[in-house]
Amino acid sequence: MARSCVVRNGTVVFPEGGTRPADLLLADGVIAAILRPGEPVMPEAETIDAGGLHVFPGFIDAHVHFGYAEPDEEYTTETRYAANGGVTSIVAYLLHNESYREIFAGRRAECERRALVDFGFHFAASSEVHLAEMETWMRDYGVNSFKYFMQYKGEEGRYVGLDGTDDGFLYDLLQRAAKLGDPCLVVHPENIEVVNRLRRQAQMAGKSTLKEFCLAKPPFTEAENLLRAMYFAEHAGARIYIPHLSCAMGLEEARRYRGRYGRIHLETCPHYLTHTMDSDVGPIGKTNPPLRTQADLEAMWAGLADGSIEVVGSDHVPRKRATKEKNIWQASNGLPGTAAIAPVLFSEGYHKGRITLARIARVFSLNPARIFGLARRKGNIAVGMDADLTLVDLDRVKTFDPAELGSHSDYSLYEGWTMRGWPTMTLVRGVAMMKDQRIVGPAGHGRYLSRPLS
Ligand SMILES: [Zn+2]
Repeated sequence: MARSCVVRNGTVVFPEGGTRPADLLLADGVIAAILRPGEPVMPEAETIDAGGLHVFPGFIDAHVHFGYAEPDEEYTTETRYAANGGVTSIVAYLLHNESYREIFAGRRAECERRALVDFGFHFAASSEVHLAEMETWMRDYGVNSFKYFMQYKGEEGRYVGLDGTDDGFLYDLLQRAAKLGDPCLVVHPENIEVVNRLRRQAQMAGKSTLKEFCLAKPPFTEAENLLRAMYFAEHAGARIYIPHLSCAMGLEEARRYRGRYGRIHLETCPHYLTHTMDSDVGPIGKTNPPLRTQADLEAMWAGLADGSIEVVGSDHVPRKRATKEKNIWQASNGLPGTAAIAPVLFSEGYHKGRITLARIARVFSLNPARIFGLARRKGNIAVGMDADLTLVDLDRVKTFDPAELGSHSDYSLYEGWTMRGWPTMTLVRGVAMMKDQRIVGPAGHGRYLSRPLS
């Protein structure tokens, strides 16, 4: 592609400014001008015809997990999946129990060699070493978001290779974060002590269905820890982000709590917008938090529409189908999802009157950019921003086929779903990476996103 080009004839979706016909001049990887439709440019530049399409700021999936596919290769497979889903940036979780100094430079370099889209990292914080290192992460690595798992108490944490922790550690972590400025603490809320008992009882009673698995982790075990996380955050003065919100009960607690303390961000995931514990998907549908009820599902859409849920992230876990097709208690947790977000938001959201196009641009681009320190370059359509654009055909009808999308994982909750509204082109810093569901850009184009605090 030439160093400059013009995206013509499209309808541009400005996250905060509505939707209108405009042409966009892209030069040297950034948006150089927003033009009136048909306005000439000098010198003549190559044209991308967006006739009949909507032009969104590049989508951002702020909740991706690495470490489940082939090491290193997954940086290509999962960012290919992202590009196919219209995603131009991801922020992925790194889990490491020791010092991140041991792994950061290597992971970053390997990902830059292999990624198709831009990427950043959140670090899991689980040990005393991490507490001591946080300032370095922010200053030297541009990592300003850390994850804490409230459910990894004792042995639960060791199962994934992290030290078991407790509320005292969370309190220290939040206080430290508040002192260091404005990093974002991502907190997984789950009362594991209650869940452990309910799970044991269900297993001993011979329960074995997806629904019985889901019922062993009732909404209050999520909502109660969420409430405690907010309470801790308020007292430390820290900013927290609740990932994968799944239930109306948790949403209600957060809405109420914001009346006294506002520095609370909420994210939900595509599967909570489309599936319930009654969905006929068997152990494929095992995820954490679990699938809930139709009323919870509708509450998630309502929370997105009114702005109380600010982000849709995938919680992408790219395992193989074989790890799911087991007894419900042995099946693996988590779902691949980065490429599913866009068709879910368009097909199940926009076309069913649950969400507007501008709101989609916020929850899937502007808000994650702002919350995670990317907003100077990403998440909006404005002069000087990176030329990350996702062209969407709202009326394209297509069946979801995981085999076409390039992930290491080989299944999807949406396999066989006919969905309306698909990305047809993904531009990362002005370079086309996906066109008509074919990858057209090179692995290694992706750049590391340093996210310093402003
Ligand atoms: Zn989690």
